[in-house]
Amino acid sequence: MIAPADLPGVGARAILEALWPSRCALCGLAVGDIPAAARRRAGIRWCDPAALCPSCEGRLPAAPLVLRHDGVTPPLVVGAGSVNHPALADLVGVWKYRGRRGLAAPLGRLAVSGAAAAIAAAGGADVLVPVPLHPRRRRERGFNQAEALARAVGVELDLPVRPELLRRRRATSQQAHFAGDDPRRRRNVADAFAARPPLDGRKRAALVDDLVTSGATLAAAAAALRAAGWTVVWSAAAGAAPAAPGAVLLTPPDAAPNIAAAWTDGGGTTEGGR
Ligand SMILES: [Zn+2]
Repeated sequence: MIAPADLPGVGARAILEALWPSRCALCGLAVGDIPAAARRRAGIRWCDPAALCPSCEGRLPAAPLVLRHDGVTPPLVVGAGSVNHPALADLVGVWKYRGRRGLAAPLGRLAVSGAAAAIAAAGGADVLVPVPLHPRRRRERGFNQAEALARAVGVELDLPVRPELLRRRRATSQQAHFAGDDPRRRRNVADAFAARPPLDGRKRAALVDDLVTSGATLAAAAAALRAAGWTVVWSAAAGAAPAAPGAVLLTPPDAAPNIAAAWTDGGGTTEGGR
């Protein structure tokens, strides 16, 4: 098999583009149809598995969602945006159910960009722990989207990701089967997790899940970590429900500039965006 690096520079891009044309994950626009200047400004590469065209990227939330989730541990939830945000919901759907794994990177960036002060105020973290899938569901889906998001968040914050610290000890019904305020959410995940203890005195864990709706899964996962000796300081998700019972929307004091601005201002600055 010929690796892309072995191909001569001239023509390699055209060959790759023909074999594996990259398209916007939301609207399907071919990357080749995005004007070259906009592509350069946004840092879109050919064959980018996480490509979003400028207009779709501009439809995403401008700043991360920061919630204080009273009654749920950990109380601070950082999300890329509301689960009800239409463009974000579409993007999460494509990522989670249609297997566009590369989208974890922009979702992870979106979740923590501009949330640094809130995360620091919550006590930073020593490790990121993704909420595990039951092994059977992981086999069905092919990947654990919470772990993929944790890896993207780990790159952004330079934190280690430790999936082995938490496991599901029983299969549960999908939380999506229950409404956000249904008490069965909490019962469904109670005692579903088991955790390993910290080994080296670094005890601050941050949880990462794909979506946070009622907070019941986070609360159960955090309870298992705490029972094993961890302090659970905050959590991150691709989407969170700001209208969940007990959730208080905090205005992020250091909100990232609208990442769409990087596409349209022509200044070429993409920091904090892509
Ligand atoms: Zn698009």
